Amino acid sequence: MSYDPLIDTAVNPSDSLPPTYWHDTVDVPTGVALDKDIETDFLIIGAGYTGISAALALAESQAGSVTVIDSHSPGYGCAGRNAGFVLSGSGRLGPAALEKRFGLDIARGIQNEFDGAVSDLLARISAYDIDCDLCPGPYYKLAHTAKHALQQREAADYLKTNFSQQAEILSQAQLNDTLAVSGFYGASRQPGYALNPLKLILGLSGVAKTKGVNLYSGTPALKITHSDAGHLVKTPQGDIRARVLLIASNAYTSKALHPSVNKRQFPVQSSIIVTRPLSDAQLASIGFTGPVSMMDTRMMKYYYRLLPDNRLLFGGRGEVSAKQAHAGKARLYSAMQTSFPALQDIGISHFWSGWVSVSLDNLPRIHFDEQTQIGYAMGYCGAGVSFANLAGRRLAQRAMHQPVNLQLPLYSTPLKRFPFAGLRRSALRALYSWARIAER
Ligand SMILES: Cc1cc2nc3c(=O)[nH]c(=O)nc-3n(C[C@H](O)[C@H](O)[C@H](O)COP(=O)(O)OP(=O)(O)OC[C@H]3O[C@@H](n4cnc5c(N)ncnc54)[C@H](O)[C@@H]3O)c2cc1C
Repeated sequence: MSYDPLIDTAVNPSDSLPPTYWHDTVDVPTGVALDKDIETDFLIIGAGYTGISAALALAESQAGSVTVIDSHSPGYGCAGRNAGFVLSGSGRLGPAALEKRFGLDIARGIQNEFDGAVSDLLARISAYDIDCDLCPGPYYKLAHTAKHALQQREAADYLKTNFSQQAEILSQAQLNDTLAVSGFYGASRQPGYALNPLKLILGLSGVAKTKGVNLYSGTPALKITHSDAGHLVKTPQGDIRARVLLIASNAYTSKALHPSVNKRQFPVQSSIIVTRPLSDAQLASIGFTGPVSMMDTRMMKYYYRLLPDNRLLFGGRGEVSAKQAHAGKARLYSAMQTSFPALQDIGISHFWSGWVSVSLDNLPRIHFDEQTQIGYAMGYCGAGVSFANLAGRRLAQRAMHQPVNLQLPLYSTPLKRFPFAGLRRSALRALYSWARIAER
């Protein structure tokens, strides 16, 4: 049975690797588990993008000794399960929604961070020469209703003037001339990037180790208490004393890890299918001529991209609990066939699910408490390939007392606590039932 953060105490270190296309095609080096008591200046829980990025930033600044522990292995969480879209943005609020909630100046400040996260990631990949199959290619946002197509058109000028966003708007006819994707009323198109997410996290982890970061796999944090040195973290075979504690376990955080994060994010599943490689004729039939990424405008979005070996990756919301995860495969396959009628008989080679961290107000947070010396970054709502990397860097900066823009709510306020946390899954079930009817 796979890990369910609302039920299990911790990821089981002896679970097998997730059955992703990425894990099937990339070797994950065998890690070592902590087997003795240690002391460290900075302890980071979680070896995904957030945790490894924070570790790298601390090591680059020679801030002190840095230790990262992961229940399983780097990339066991979302970092090794995602679709590899490198997009500007995180959480679920677009520029207009950010302006409505916080005003134009703050909205611009947040959007600058999101844009900067993409450049920061690209610069890191280049500086450390990380082989992660990074490829540029257009990113389409597909309007699933005529109303959404109109909204995209109306928003284009606003985004250009206020946020310097240069999206090209395609009418339904222009879209149909470009791609044989069915059921859409128009699209916006802008430059984008995609990559192999597992190669990215393994590459970053390798760099972190060469910079002196101590990285332990198979080492779940089981209990966090105070110690003379600051914090005492119990793991199965050793205790860790740490001056500063950074929690980077994202949606894989178990339900009672520490009061600073408990009930402040909601783990929700996203699932992906990958097809067998498309033949030249099949590629031509859907109008794909090179790397391309797409997402639709539904609240329960579908997202898809062409992989370097010409497989189609197609993702969308998962099932409510880990126990039901397998049921998502048929639903995704049927949605893919509706979007690509030309691919009726294409076989599926891979199916997997992962937990994304949803925050109550749809905005991620990078929080650091000076008094307790505990920080965390999470709540990316399924958009974290670029931003989790920046969030890790910002978290490290906060832990090193370096300035970050505390006017931005991303940094100035903690994640809000979910009221009636025990009812989150019932509410999600109701939302999915509504979406099944409203967003066909
Ligand atoms: C199916 C799917 C598709 C996605 N597609 C995209 C996409 O295309 N583009 C995009 O921008 N975002 C995407 N995302 C979201 C993105 O992957 C995440 O936002 C990002 O990976 C978050 O990184 P992270 O380091 O914070 O967390 P994670 O990568 O989830 O890492 C958390 C780590 O913490 C470890 N951990 C948990 N508890 C403990 C503990 N007690 N002790 C020790 N270790 C612990 C886990 O084992 C895990 O390795 C997708 C997510 C999913 C699931």
